[in-house]
Amino acid sequence: MLIDTHAHIQMTEFDADRGEVLARAKSAGIELMVTVGYHLEASQRAVDAAQRYSQVYASIGIHPHDARHYDDATEEVLRELAKSPKVVAIGEAGLDFYRDRSPRPAQVQAFRRQIYLAKEWGLPLIVHDREAHQETMQVLKDEQAEVVVLHCFSGDLAMAEEAWDRGYYISIAGPVTYPKNEALREVVRRARPDRLVLETDCPYLPPQAFRGQRNEPAHLLKTAHEVAGLLRMSLDALGLLTTENARRLFRI
Ligand SMILES: [Zn+2]
Repeated sequence: MLIDTHAHIQMTEFDADRGEVLARAKSAGIELMVTVGYHLEASQRAVDAAQRYSQVYASIGIHPHDARHYDDATEEVLRELAKSPKVVAIGEAGLDFYRDRSPRPAQVQAFRRQIYLAKEWGLPLIVHDREAHQETMQVLKDEQAEVVVLHCFSGDLAMAEEAWDRGYYISIAGPVTYPKNEALREVVRRARPDRLVLETDCPYLPPQAFRGQRNEPAHLLKTAHEVAGLLRMSLDALGLLTTENARRLFRI
């Protein structure tokens, strides 16, 4: 049994066959998933999906790409959405200095405000960090973020060690299966067992075997195989470990 801690099954990419995708996930042993918001509409759709499907939980938040639109009204809508009992996290929030679709000061501001919300509501924070490792870790420290998962971890071992020292979780996605990504495999080999979770980030980032295709939660199995091999664990043992971690993280 596995938990996909970061999916986007509310996206229109899944409108035609969402039920089948969820059924395939179940057959593959993906018992639960967290579908993650990235702007208000996507957060609303995440909550709707969670209400409709028992195996789906929701995270609500504003991605750094949309940070320039973040204001008090945004927060009011998030506050309403957070009342749903199946909302288990805030995010994805963070910094994206690769695409820079919002000005960096706006990204930092929206990130800060969502750290406060996570603390106020006692929810974990799902962090997006792309080419902003140092700045992301600095904001998390400055704002004293509490329960944190670094989604689709892409930092080096030194960053991972710092994250583990602070008690953060690291989430491993499909790129761990990419031939060139030896650096990420090294992070996994050294991972602190109680701070490791798995994700697809579907429809993005399919594991190597499915590159070029739409990713989906059932493909988490490929990532889990790779991670289990790196940790010299059986798939069952890795499933137990990462499921326990995900349940503790999201309190599900
Ligand atoms: Zn995502």
